[in-house]
Amino acid sequence: MKSNLLEIRNLKKIYHDKDGEILAIKDISFKIKEGEFIAIVGPSGCGKSTILSILSDLENKSDGEIIISKSNLKIGYMLQNDALFDNRTILKNTLIGLEINKNLNDEKEEKVLDLLNTYGLSEFIDKYPRNLSGGMRQRVALIRTLAVEPDILLLDEPFSALDYQTRLAVSDDVYKIIKKEKKTAIIVTHDIEEAISMADRVIVLSERPAVIKNIYSIDLPNKSTPIENRKIKEFDEYYNLIWKDLDIHV
Ligand code: ADP
Ligand code: MG
Repeated sequence: MKSNLLEIRNLKKIYHDKDGEILAIKDISFKIKEGEFIAIVGPSGCGKSTILSILSDLENKSDGEIIISKSNLKIGYMLQNDALFDNRTILKNTLIGLEINKNLNDEKEEKVLDLLNTYGLSEFIDKYPRNLSGGMRQRVALIRTLAVEPDILLLDEPFSALDYQTRLAVSDDVYKIIKKEKKTAIIVTHDIEEAISMADRVIVLSERPAVIKNIYSIDLPNKSTPIENRKIKEFDEYYNLIWKDLDIHV
C-alpha cells in the first residue's frame, strides 16, 4: 500500500471582507496517497477552490492542520483558464515556471522538450497560443505545470472553458498524461461525471460552509480511461449516489 503524501485535518477557512466574515470551509479532513487521483465535487461557491488555494499557500487557513509527508513538497497548480501568455511561444510558455524559480537549465529544457514531443506538441514549440486549439492549449498548460516536477498536481475546473466534446477528449488526454507521469492529483470540479470518470476517490462536499458529505472509492470493473469509464454500467450507480448527496434543486 502506498503511503500518504498529504493529510488535511479539520481544515477551516473564514474569509474577512468589508461586509464581515464568510465561513467558507467549516471542517474538512481527508488524506491523499502517493499516486492517487482525488476528485472534489460540490456546488458552486461551496469552497472547492479555497481548499486548493490553501494547499498551494495562496490563502492562509483559519484552523486545522495540513500534514505533508515529504519535505519541500512541490505543488503544481493548473487553473480553469489556461493562462498562457499570448506573446510567448509555446516553448517559452512551458518554461515560464522554471524561469520564475530560476531553475532553468539545458537539462530541464530538454525534459520539457521531451514532454512536448511525447504529447504531440513538438511542431508547435515556436508557435503562439493563438495558433492552438483549446484542447492543445490545455495540454500546454499541463506540460508547463509538469515542467517544475511537482509532487502533486492541483487542477481547478481545468476543462470548464471547453465545449462538451473537447472536454471529454481533453480530460482523457490529461488523465493519461498524469498517470503516465505517475503524478498524485487533486481535481476540483462541479461535474459529477468528470469526477467519477477520472478519480480513484470522489470527495463530495456540502453547500457552503463546506463539510464532507461522503467519500466514494470508485471501483469500476475493468476501469480504464475517463471516456471508457463512462460506458461502464456501475458508473451510473455512482452518479446517482453523488447526485443524491448534492441534492440539487432546480
Ligand atoms: P468554489 O470554488 O467551490 O466555487 P470558492 O472556494 O471559490 O468556491 O469560494 C467559497 C466561498 O468563499 C464563496 O462564498 C466565495 O464567495 C467566498 N470567497 C472566496 N474567495 C474569497 C475572498 N478572497 N474573499 C472573500 N470571500 C471569498
Ligand atoms: Mg472554484
